Amino acid sequence: MSERLEIAGRALQRPLCNHCLGRLFASVSRGLTNDQRGAIVRSCLPDGPQQPVSMNDCHVCRGLFSELQKFADISARASEGYEFSTFLVGTKVDAEVLEREEAFWTELGAKETETIKTEMNREIGKLLEKKLGKSVDFANPDMVFLVDTQFDRVVLDVSPLFVYGRYRKFSRELPQTRWICRECRGKGCPRCDGKGRMYDMSVQDYTGPIVMRHAQGEDDFFHGMGREDIDARMLGNGRPFAVEVRRPRKRTLDMPAIEREINDGARGIVEIEGLRMSTRAEMRNLKESTHPKTYRVSVRFQTDFDHGKLNEVVTSLAGKPISQLTPNRVVHRRANLERLRTVRSIRVESVNGSEVVFVVEADSGTYIKELMHGDQGRTQPNVAGIVGVPCEVLELDVIAIGDKGA
Ligand SMILES: [Zn+2]
Ligand SMILES: [Zn+2]
Repeated sequence: MSERLEIAGRALQRPLCNHCLGRLFASVSRGLTNDQRGAIVRSCLPDGPQQPVSMNDCHVCRGLFSELQKFADISARASEGYEFSTFLVGTKVDAEVLEREEAFWTELGAKETETIKTEMNREIGKLLEKKLGKSVDFANPDMVFLVDTQFDRVVLDVSPLFVYGRYRKFSRELPQTRWICRECRGKGCPRCDGKGRMYDMSVQDYTGPIVMRHAQGEDDFFHGMGREDIDARMLGNGRPFAVEVRRPRKRTLDMPAIEREINDGARGIVEIEGLRMSTRAEMRNLKESTHPKTYRVSVRFQTDFDHGKLNEVVTSLAGKPISQLTPNRVVHRRANLERLRTVRSIRVESVNGSEVVFVVEADSGTYIKELMHGDQGRTQPNVAGIVGVPCEVLELDVIAIGDKGA
């Protein structure tokens, strides 16, 4: 203790408020505020209790700690109109104050310190907890108050909100997300008929804006667990997705009402179910997960063929790995890679002359159209190759996501 008292004695050769005195020894004991700790240190000095200085004279903070309540009040006012239950405070303190604090520590050789920002954050946080009846959360706050102590300003960092659901898509002309025109980047040009986008609507357009309006947010993003081709329907149990709403003012949402509104507006085109609140972590998980998918795909062979060959298709593909180079149709925008995927099962559902309907369960990321026609040999083996007759894909549907099969 004597070394600490010696540091305290030297520190008090300058005017210091109790906060800035106590912070020199912040890691010595728990359960005290720096303000209380400073008062105790002061009373322990051999020369007897030293009079605390007026806060505004404090060598380090120049009175910043007398403004805590004001910062809490400004923050509370800034957050009016936003629904949130947890928050965190971040403080911006003048560089001058920070430099003074650091130089002072060096001069004193103080090593048990805490930064002024950390104390400001905590103390404003405590005042706000009391004032708002909400609690500080370090990991996942709904709201972060960025308090600029120099200009008495607060910037709100409102955490986005995530809503999870599953969608089915019955249209063969609907992309999953908004597709902004590459040529004009949304401004409108001849390529996009002046619309700024390549398709008028998307699954995102049928869902995101409605969730955003209910949450009174400012922007919406769509995260799918993978995506199907524009011309493929998404049937069965639907595809998991999450809508992200930026800067929401409301976080308690009437999910059944939102679900009804979306389904009424998208009748016959998109259908959603199971809407509920989600988290950023779940959204990340969703985007990274790789579930197998089951497809129904109908193909037409160029000529009649020996139907016995279909047994050969089944035996030579089921449970086997296939090699796929990035398809010709997407290679202009994706790296040309070889992928190995497994066809978990394949069966023939119906045969009508040269038209065949297959049900295929395959690894996530398998290009099904290419598995059928072979993509000029870029997918090996492939159905057309095994049958010995070229074929084209007429229709493709995703009928299940996950290990369910069809
Ligand atoms: Zn001070
Ligand atoms: Zn355009």
